[in-house]
Amino acid sequence: MDAEDNYVFPGFIDTHTHLELPKRLGFSKDTNDFETETMAALAGGTTTIFDFVLPEKNESLIDALNRKVKYYEGTANCKYQFHVVLTEVKDNLYEQLKQLKRKGIKGIKIYTTYDKRLTNEEIIKVMNYCSKLDLVVLVHCEDNAIIEYCKNKHNYNFKRPAKAEENAVYTIANYALITKCITYFCNISCSKSVEIIKRIKQKGGKVYLETCPHYLILNSSKYLKSSLKEGTKFLVSPPLREEKDNKALIEACLDGTVDLISTDHCAYLFEEHKKKYYYDISKAAEGIPGIQLRPSLIYTILVKERGFSVENFVKLLSYNPSRIFSVYDRGYIREGATADIVIWEDKKFKVNIEDLHEGTDYSPYEGMELVGKAKYVL
Ligand SMILES: [Zn+2]
Repeated sequence: MDAEDNYVFPGFIDTHTHLELPKRLGFSKDTNDFETETMAALAGGTTTIFDFVLPEKNESLIDALNRKVKYYEGTANCKYQFHVVLTEVKDNLYEQLKQLKRKGIKGIKIYTTYDKRLTNEEIIKVMNYCSKLDLVVLVHCEDNAIIEYCKNKHNYNFKRPAKAEENAVYTIANYALITKCITYFCNISCSKSVEIIKRIKQKGGKVYLETCPHYLILNSSKYLKSSLKEGTKFLVSPPLREEKDNKALIEACLDGTVDLISTDHCAYLFEEHKKKYYYDISKAAEGIPGIQLRPSLIYTILVKERGFSVENFVKLLSYNPSRIFSVYDRGYIREGATADIVIWEDKKFKVNIEDLHEGTDYSPYEGMELVGKAKYVL
């Protein structure tokens, strides 16, 4: 194999994907399946993904993990690991977390909104336990009281306003300082959150900031079309924000405040799960795909357009994710490491849905001119 004139990168790691969720929510039988989406990941240069274990009501965390491991056995095209979602706090939680740790789990995910949200009292308890066990708590931050108050607003962006994220990030950031818990802010979408997290980092908080390609590249103008039919392609939580937020997040990548960029990949069918509910978007599926294009999107916007070094590109997409979740055999190229290698071509291409392996009928990036793609993945 000839890698001449191409970059050789360690395989990329996506720490935030929801490959089971559309089926679980009753939306879809045929999309977003583990086999197709891990193939799409690999085609784009991502060799490891982290998906989520979502326990059933009254199912123990260990049983949920075992169920998931069994369910996916033999179906993946790339390497995969799991984070476990915590939807309730039971008396034996500390013991359950210890068991998960023994099984190799490093990340515990919690929500401050949706039915699966925990109360603030429960959250601080979880963060205290995880701090003692050296586990990472991943938090989806949106203040549920604000979301509830705004739920009847017409525009999607007003239904889930930036203030909701800002409020929850502020609360969780202070909990992180108090409990000394390693805290991972998921899918950060707005400039105010960046400011808060930056301040907490300066105060010595063990916190990480994750954002996603769509928050760097797309904004809420997508929701303002006279017809929202097309706009439903871009429904995601938290929603796309303003251009100033795109800019603030890109700056935060350049100055090192952003630790990693994952996809929050959740692929629905545009025709079947989104477009037909445009008249009442509370029924439309929220979530967008990106598992294949993430490396190309980030390479284009940061390396080609903003002069970001390829070393820092690898840090955001591979090295930092491996460090945060203690995947010590990946994230770099060196003797003794797992040989997940991407031969990367600095080549222009136009996003065409036909070229994507993602199990859906659209891409939010369709028609975009990008630079950089995986030529070979080993
Ligand atoms: Zn997510």
